[in-house]
Amino acid sequence: MSTPEASRLEALRAEVERRNPAQPEFHQAVREVLESLAPVFAARPEYAEPGLLERIVEPERQILFRVPWQDDRGRVHVNRGFRVEFNSALGPYKGGLRFHPSVNIGVVKFLGFEQIFKNALTGLGIGGGKGGSDFDPHGRSDNEIMRFCQSFMTELSRHIGEHTDVPAGDIGVGGREIGYLFGQYRRITNRWEAGVLTGKGIGWGGSAIRPEATGYGSVLFAAEMLARRGTTLEGLTAVVSGSGNVALHTIEKLQQLGANPLTASDSSGYVVDTKGIDLELLRQVKEVERARISEYAVRRGPSASFVADGRVWDVAGDVAFPSATQNELHEQDAVTLVRNGVKAVSEGANMPSTPEAVRVFQEAGVAFGPGKAANAGGVAVSALEMSQNAARVAWSAERVESELAAIMKRIHDDTYETAARYGTPGDYVTGANITGFERVADAVLAQGLI
Ligand code: NDP
Repeated sequence: MSTPEASRLEALRAEVERRNPAQPEFHQAVREVLESLAPVFAARPEYAEPGLLERIVEPERQILFRVPWQDDRGRVHVNRGFRVEFNSALGPYKGGLRFHPSVNIGVVKFLGFEQIFKNALTGLGIGGGKGGSDFDPHGRSDNEIMRFCQSFMTELSRHIGEHTDVPAGDIGVGGREIGYLFGQYRRITNRWEAGVLTGKGIGWGGSAIRPEATGYGSVLFAAEMLARRGTTLEGLTAVVSGSGNVALHTIEKLQQLGANPLTASDSSGYVVDTKGIDLELLRQVKEVERARISEYAVRRGPSASFVADGRVWDVAGDVAFPSATQNELHEQDAVTLVRNGVKAVSEGANMPSTPEAVRVFQEAGVAFGPGKAANAGGVAVSALEMSQNAARVAWSAERVESELAAIMKRIHDDTYETAARYGTPGDYVTGANITGFERVADAVLAQGLI
């Protein structure tokens, strides 16, 4: 780095690390965006205004709270709740809630920071936020989950609202949890305020295709990247990680488009199925029974095997969809995937590939769709859910799905064109970071020093 713009960005990066100690995921997310911005500063001097970037890397508000709850045996537990309201220049804060023992303020800030630019990419008027808890839902009964959600919402309800901050699901928070959270919000506020949460059930304010949207969108983004290269997903084999909401719908859309997903994983290991994943069986094991993924291999028969604690990226495939969690795909995994001939990687999860892995993909000429762009379909349909709630209407699945496809194509084309404009054609990381940044920065500048 040698230009004045690059030196200034480097100084800001160092300052962010100094002021936010022990938050490695947040540092990583900020560094990744700042590294893309030097050419924008050279081309658009107004962005050099003192304090602009400094405000964008600082959340507008950070809320930390105690979440006490009782398990089925009457024992009291105390978890920590978080909501980071990062940037509302483009609309109400919008972003999911994550319940996982690894959640801390640094993880929530990384997710919230990513969310600002992702939401800007959708073009749908939503700001960025994120939240969650270090609560571990694994092995908890329905009643325990309900009591936890009620206690969490008792505090969170003071801070959210359809025009203020609109949470949704993420790891550990699906339709069941959104139901308990919405019920408690309604009870506390005595308001039918459907637009306060997204990911609700169909019949009480939810949108068709919202559960499917992130996984479907990630596959559609991959299809757009391949189309630019004159090819399609049809007949390709796919390696997918995770077995939650995003992974299951990634597998579903891949199968609809004629590709053959071979794998799925959870935190205990992965399964590889030489006949291709049996989605009905995987759903039964993971969604209905909430069992470990090894159970899939036990029931599927000889085509499937379970590899405990293995790297799913060792399985050869034409396309890869990291859909579990952050930093799950390392440099060596990327080297293995490239050696095995991977053509495209589309990130369903947030920041699943380490910076070193991303570099390997880019240097090898693999079409690489970063999460900010590739997994934006979920939040995009959340924004469509908010529109339906505001108008008190429910759109058909066909309508929502065709809007989703149009949005993913637009995100692809916008990021592709921005990258080309800044002299890095085919670099979707640069394209996504700059496109998102320009939209947020323009709004922040227009709204004065706040
Ligand atoms: P789910 O909770 O439904 O599924 C998460 C999956 O990832 C599970 O298979 C889980 O395994 C696995 N996993 C989670 N943490 C770890 C870990 N530390 N190590 C290994 N495996 C892990 O979450 P989602 O499918 O909703 O989310 C997956 C990713 O997609 C996340 O990065 C999320 O931020 C991102 N995302 C989600 C959106 C959505 O709409 N839901 C929108 C945009 C992005 P196990 O059951 O063993 O924990």
